[in-house]
Order: sequence, then structure tokens, then C-alpha cells
Amino acid sequence: MNRLSLKIKLTLLYTFFMVLATCAVLAILFSLSNREILASVQSKLERRVQDSSDDITLRDGELRLDSDFYSVTQDVYLSLYDEDMYFLYGRVPYGFDVQPEIADGRTRRIPEGDTDWYVYDMSFRLAEDYTVYVRGITSVTDAEESFNVTVRFAVILFPLMALVTALIGYRMTRRTLLPVKKITATVQKIRADADLSRRIGLGGEGKKDRGGKNRDEIYGLAGTFDDMLEELETAFKREKQFTSDVSHELRTPVSVILAQCSECLEDGELTGRQREQILLIERKARDMAGMISQLLFLSRADQGRQPLHREWVNVSELTQMTVEEQQLLADAGGNGVQISCRAGDDIMACVDETLFIRLLDNLISNAVSYGRKNGRVEVSLLRGQGEIIGTVSDDGSGISEEDLPHIWERFYRADASRAGGSHSGLGLSMVKWIAEAHGGCVEVQSTPGKGSVFTFRFPAEEKQIKNKN
Ligand code: ADP
Repeated sequence: MNRLSLKIKLTLLYTFFMVLATCAVLAILFSLSNREILASVQSKLERRVQDSSDDITLRDGELRLDSDFYSVTQDVYLSLYDEDMYFLYGRVPYGFDVQPEIADGRTRRIPEGDTDWYVYDMSFRLAEDYTVYVRGITSVTDAEESFNVTVRFAVILFPLMALVTALIGYRMTRRTLLPVKKITATVQKIRADADLSRRIGLGGEGKKDRGGKNRDEIYGLAGTFDDMLEELETAFKREKQFTSDVSHELRTPVSVILAQCSECLEDGELTGRQREQILLIERKARDMAGMISQLLFLSRADQGRQPLHREWVNVSELTQMTVEEQQLLADAGGNGVQISCRAGDDIMACVDETLFIRLLDNLISNAVSYGRKNGRVEVSLLRGQGEIIGTVSDDGSGISEEDLPHIWERFYRADASRAGGSHSGLGLSMVKWIAEAHGGCVEVQSTPGKGSVFTFRFPAEEKQIKNKN
């Protein structure tokens, strides 16, 4: 039942209640009609038999019957019997072939063939020692039966009625729930494309009350959703603009700090402690400059202003060069990591050179930072079918299953204590954006305690190349 759609559930629900209500009404009507028919047959039968006393007389010991006794009035047949149940006079209806015992003053129902016969006997004492019995016999007339027939007809039509109700109900429910379907589809599209500019667009439809508000709650809900999306979009735009503005504003003071640090460090009169302090300031300012540049990159990407200048470049050479640079940095870091590179010969791809290097830089520096001391980092690049496939693997601590889906989120850091201060949790967001902006993708496989493998794929087809800005 839980798997059924709301449309089906609602249709089943009210069809069920409709069937229940109709069954109850029909049962009541049927029992009332039966009782009514019986009462009317009984009263006419008894009246006719009682009235027949005027037609029977005993004169000079001889039984005389008026001609009215023979006539069939109101469908009631009269017959006369003596005390031994011997038929004397009268008429018995065609089809009534039984001769039931006398039951004085009691109406009985006797089914015979297709007909339900009603029989009423009454004794008449004509003399001291002479009693006769008048028997009235009738059946239900067409008029009396007609109501019953109507009810029976309704019972036969009932399944059809239920089917038609279910069909009409289903159509109506579907129409009513159409806006819900549209709301769901729009929200799914917003989630899939991260595009807050989409609207459901049903707020203007539906009947309005005098105040201009939607009378239909679901259309009203769609309108409210659109208003909410509007506000969300504005808030997001404001937030992106804020990030971009702040990053811009911070760039100059950080550059000034860095410039001043270099100048101070040239001063030969600095004490050892002062030099150390200035070097620390310089290092932190560099971290800050790196973070600002990442923030600027991502806010430009969000606003669709991050340029992508693609050209055919030898990505094998780029990879080799980046690995060599990263090896120098790792050596300077002093944790003894060895980076090896296996790149196919002269693989050409149409990429933005700066962004491609940035992607590799991020992946390799992560592998070094989160790798084992004196461990190994392997970088490979090869040409697949219509794509280039690159991997960066390390033999570090790996990423836990809970953290794995979140590492691409901004500012997410699985274990903030493990990497140095230069790590802000923005690197992989940038890597993902760069891969996707090139029409490619990036994924990770990681075994806690054994290491991680990051794989990126870029299309290598010429027709897929489109430069942004
Ligand atoms: P950060 O600046 O903190 O490195 P990233 O976005 O580059 O930010 O990475 C997000 C998080 O993913 C990191 O904080 C780290 O916990 C995890 N991570 C990234 N690369 C690796 C790796 N090679 N091995 C283990 N964990 C990693």
C-alpha cells in the first residue's frame, strides 16, 4: 500500500467509501421495500377475505354465494372450503398447485415456481354447527414489485457505478495533484542543476479570491514556493557577492603584509627571534593569500565569471612538470614523500593550462599532506577512449566512509588537525569544478589505513571543446 502513489491511494479511499455508503443505502432500501411490499400485500389480502363475508350466506341450510365472490379483485383469488378442507367454490390462481393446510387468521408466504404466493385463511361460522373457510390467494403485483426491481437494477449497475466513480475520481485527483508533480519536478531540477533561477510558475494560475490570493491551496503552495525561491536566490546572490567583495578587499592588505615582510627580512640588524616572527607572519600571510585566491576562484565560478581558456596542450609534459615542482615542495616540507609519474608519451588534450595545473597541484599536494611519512605518491596519465584519464594515489591514512561523500564540499575537512594551516577545505571543490567545467569528472576511491586514489577524466574530443568568456 505504501508503494502506491497518492493519486491511487486517494482514488481507492473514496471509491471504497462510496462503495460502502452505496451498499448501506441499497441494503436499507431493499429491506424497507420488502417490508413495505409484505405489509401492503397482507393488508389488501386480509381486507378482501374479510369483505367476502358479505358474499356468503346460508339460506334454508343451503350455501349461497354472491357472484362477487368469483371475481378477482385487486389480484386476490377467493376460494371456499368446508371444515374437512374440501374445496367447495371459488377460484384458485393459475400456477398455484398446492393445497396447504388451513391456518386460520394467518398470512403465509408460499413460493411456487417463479412466484411468491401469499395465502390468508379465515373461518366463517355460518350456523351453530356449520363453519366454512375462505382462502384468499394473491401474489406481489407488478406495481408492488417495481420498486424492488429498481433496487435490484441498482445492485446490478452498482459495479459499473463504482468503476465510473473510480475513473472520474482518478482523473480529478490527477488534475488536482498536477501542481504537486510540477513542484516536485522543479525542486528536483533545482537540485540536479543547482539552478535557483528556476520557478514552478503556477502561482498565477488557479482561482483567486477577492484579495488576489489563490483559492486552491496547492496553487497557493506553488506560489509560496516561488516566492521562497526568489528570496533564496537573492540571498545566495548576495552571499556570493559578499564573498567576492571580501576576497577582493583582503587581497591588497595581504599583498602589503607580504611585501612588508620581505622588506623587513632584508634588514640585517634583525635578531634571530625577530626574523623567526616575521617569517611566521609571512607564512601565514601566504596561506591567507592562497585561501583568498581559492575563494575568488570559487565565487567567480559561482557567478559564471571564471574564464576557461582551452587550447591544445601537451598534458603529459604539464603533468611531468607539475610532479617535479610538487616534489621540490615536498622535499622542502621534509616528510620524505617520493612522487613518481607515469604519463603516456605526448598526450594532447584541449584544456585550460592554468586550471589543469591547479587541479594536479591540489590533488598531489593533498596526497603529500595526507600521505604517510616517507610514503609514495603515484601520478599517472593515460589516454582512454575519447578521454584522458589521470590518477593521483597515495599510501596514506585514507578517508573514512562517512567523510567520503562530503570531501567535495566547501570548507569540509575530514581531519583538520592532520594537514598544515595552508589547508582550508576548498581545494577539492575547485578540483571538481575544474573537471566538470572541462566536461569531465573526478572521483575517489579510498581505503582507510591504506590510501586513496583520485581519478579525473577529461574528454579528449575536439567537438566538445568550447571556451568560456
Ligand atoms: P584541504 O584544503 O583541507 O586539503 P580539500 O578540499 O583539498 O581541503 O580536501 C578536503 C578534505 O578531504 C581534506 O581536509 C582531507 O580530510 C580529505 N582529503 C583530501 N585528499 C585526501 C587524501 N589524499 N588522503 C586523505 N584525505 C584526503
